[in-house]
Amino acid sequence: MTVPHLPAIGCRWYPSSKTCCMCGAKRDDLKLSDRVYKCINSSCVAHTITLDRDLNAALNLLNASNEYVRLAQPEDTPVDK
Ligand SMILES: [Zn+2]
Repeated sequence: MTVPHLPAIGCRWYPSSKTCCMCGAKRDDLKLSDRVYKCINSSCVAHTITLDRDLNAALNLLNASNEYVRLAQPEDTPVDK
């Protein structure tokens, strides 16, 4: 099994706090002093609510780790009969 490279979203430069955990939109204007996250995408559910900044970041990292595990799964192969 070949394990893929860790997606860029898992690296230390991935903006987990500035990225919406629901739609992936990025808020470049988010400052460290901003403790809540509200999405800039008006069609996103996170646009109508505010999330704790750290919760948003944690959900992004969880999503990234789930994606990494999904990519690391062996491909389905047909069973020989
Ligand atoms: Zn969003």
